[in-house]
Amino acid sequence: MNQWQIGKVKITRVIEMESKGGSRFILPQATREAVQPIEWLQPHFADEQGNLLMSVHALILETPSQTIIVDTCIGNDKPRSIPTWNNLQLPFLEDLEKAGYDRHKIDAVLCTHLHVDHVGWNTMLVDDEWVPTFPNARYLMGKDEFNYWIDNTEADYGDVIGDSVKPVFDAGLVDLVETNHRISDEIYLEPTLGHTPGHVSVHIESEGQHALITGDCIHHPCQIANLDWSSSADYAPEQGIETRKKLMQDYADTEILIIGTHFATPTAGLLKRDGDNYWLDVNI
Ligand SMILES: [Zn+2]
Repeated sequence: MNQWQIGKVKITRVIEMESKGGSRFILPQATREAVQPIEWLQPHFADEQGNLLMSVHALILETPSQTIIVDTCIGNDKPRSIPTWNNLQLPFLEDLEKAGYDRHKIDAVLCTHLHVDHVGWNTMLVDDEWVPTFPNARYLMGKDEFNYWIDNTEADYGDVIGDSVKPVFDAGLVDLVETNHRISDEIYLEPTLGHTPGHVSVHIESEGQHALITGDCIHHPCQIANLDWSSSADYAPEQGIETRKKLMQDYADTEILIIGTHFATPTAGLLKRDGDNYWLDVNI
């Protein structure tokens, strides 16, 4: 478990699963040969052979007024076409509880986008029905994002919308928001489009300190070294590249902590510029 304090906001990472290799299907340009020479990725984000290390985790934001969970991983009991994600039986909710968070006391669930590994724990299986895991929370989803996926019948990974989005919507728990929505004094969304039509990152600002939760506009830190390495899951790859360029312009050589949604431990760092290149400094 990692934890960070940004002013009055405590950020806690709860891991669902970590993985090694196997991620080239999502980043086809990140071959071992291409990754291995990027020395700063080792040992945290790649091994000596150039295999990528990744993580699926949720980030809990505890503000003075609210407790918010950002992205809800893959979830248990869900039929999925990726074998390592299929019908999971992982102790995620127990780990959330151990971190100090009772699912009944979560005030808001925030999905950076509506892909399979970001909405899974929106629901849980009870008596053969998908019910909201966080029954007392508002579920915040981008309006454009929701409207795109709700009409999209492509079931790439399984019935993600049917088992993880529609049940919370039908329960009246969803608030559809704009991509620049402000959630509280400390938390607001930033549009980071390209990976999906309504993809957002989450900005935390308190007492002069800042952090940004990327979502999947940067899937893996190797995309900081190669801004044009697109994910095979990107909806609009060129727009995704522009989004990464803008993030570098806005945040490199600043004190804004960058927290990746799939970055392996230690998961957060500062963006640094070195001539025309960028890297993530995790020795902070
Ligand atoms: Zn993802």
